[in-house]
Amino acid sequence: MRVSENEHGRGDGGIVVIGAGPVGAVAAMYLAPRYGPVTVLERRADPRSGGGRRGRSITVMLSARGWRVLRELGLEEAVRAICLPIHGRCAHLPDGSSHVTPYSRDRQPIWSVERDRLNRLLLDAAEATDGVRIDFGARVHEVDPDGPAVLLEDGAGRRRIACRRVLGCDGAHSVARAALVARGARANVRRLDLAHQEICAPGGWLDPSTMHYWPTGDALFAAFPLPSGEFAGSLFMRHDGPAPSYATVEGGRDLLRVFRAHFPEPAAAVPDIAEQLATKDAATITTVSCDRWIHGDALALLGDACHAMPPFMGHGMNCGFEDVRTLVDRLESTGDWASALVAYEKSRIEDAEAISYLSFEHYHTMANPPQDERAHTATRLRGRLYDLFPDRFVPRYESCAFTEEGYASVLRDDRRLDDLVDALLSRYGAEIVSASDTGLHAAVSGAAGTANLGESRCS
Ligand SMILES: Cc1cc2nc3c(=O)[nH]c(=O)nc-3n(C[C@H](O)[C@H](O)[C@H](O)COP(=O)(O)OP(=O)(O)OC[C@H]3O[C@@H](n4cnc5c(N)ncnc54)[C@H](O)[C@@H]3O)c2cc1C
Repeated sequence: MRVSENEHGRGDGGIVVIGAGPVGAVAAMYLAPRYGPVTVLERRADPRSGGGRRGRSITVMLSARGWRVLRELGLEEAVRAICLPIHGRCAHLPDGSSHVTPYSRDRQPIWSVERDRLNRLLLDAAEATDGVRIDFGARVHEVDPDGPAVLLEDGAGRRRIACRRVLGCDGAHSVARAALVARGARANVRRLDLAHQEICAPGGWLDPSTMHYWPTGDALFAAFPLPSGEFAGSLFMRHDGPAPSYATVEGGRDLLRVFRAHFPEPAAAVPDIAEQLATKDAATITTVSCDRWIHGDALALLGDACHAMPPFMGHGMNCGFEDVRTLVDRLESTGDWASALVAYEKSRIEDAEAISYLSFEHYHTMANPPQDERAHTATRLRGRLYDLFPDRFVPRYESCAFTEEGYASVLRDDRRLDDLVDALLSRYGAEIVSASDTGLHAAVSGAAGTANLGESRCS
């Protein structure tokens, strides 16, 4: 069915969602039953028809925030069936040792799923929802938030479609965001100096219950288990600058040499590594931050359109799902779109900035194995504090993945814990790490005031 002016005139309350990625599909499913007809406009062909661009085999992790949304939509069981539980991350260090860090202290797993597969399931579920229609091959060129209206191009040509609301779920290069920028919003869109190349790896050489990574400081290789028993590998390396970077390894031979030097174990385990490195494109990572996400009662941005982030904490999509739920929650509590959009923007921007920042930091933690002595001691001290005060100190990864605590609150707590650890090390030196439980209790009580910790919970 075609989108028509009639069905989406301002008078009939039609909502246009731009983008049928995971966030657009979820937004349509939440909104249509509550607020009337939703049309999703997607520039690509339908990925389920086989006619679309072959999606890359990115594996994404679902955390508590994502599962809450899927549960509310009645999709938890169906999605669980295509997921794999992953219990931790295993670092393969340059000295040949390996070290597993569980994702949570009570051994809860996070769940990995191929993004394309999840997206196809969400599209099926969205189309099965009353009031949702998805138009593929429908590219939005421009958004007029004052109309509101969108300028659409599809098989029938270009035309303007009037509607009641526009939700921009159109990813990092959002045209909906461009409309806000044209009206004074400030957006920071950055291409990270980090490229990633996907490598398919066979199974049988790694434990499939954890993800694996090989940190070298200069480059990182990660491998995620797949339900098929194989692994989805990702090579992360700088675009520019001194070796190793893509700029210095033009042509497959040099890249193969660098890969073998940095990652001998994966190089030996993937039989066609030379061919994959030579033929697969390196993708860029774009990040987005934006100081306005809404316009009046007519336009809101959700997902990567307003907060594309580095992928290392595994939260871009989870955070986008949480955007949708927050928007609907604000609509239900305020009863009017203008107030709900203001409340939505207010509650999400700080959290999105925080998880984006945590994701940058997490890359550096994962990519750089060697720590100086003080950093190593601080890590051990943190571990003792997590064990001794399990409710008061929660590792930040655990807070992000297994709770729905606001990301900004997680970041603040983490900084307070940094202060406490610094205060303890300054006052007692490295011996504090091996203090008795009673001694550490007393030291924490004494240092809490100095570190401005109070009684608040830390992550
Ligand atoms: C390597 C990697 C690993 C990741 N791992 C994780 C993870 O473990 N966990 C996690 O939560 N997230 C992860 N992410 C992030 C996650 O993939 C994104 O956050 C998520 O896909 C964002 O969904 P979205 O719907 O907002 O945007 P997108 O997925 O980008 O979808 C946007 C859609 O809009 C369409 N579109 C764009 N412009 C237009 C237009 N003008 N007109 C019509 N349609 C348009 C696009 O075709 C696309 O279908 C990872 C990302 C990468 C790159």
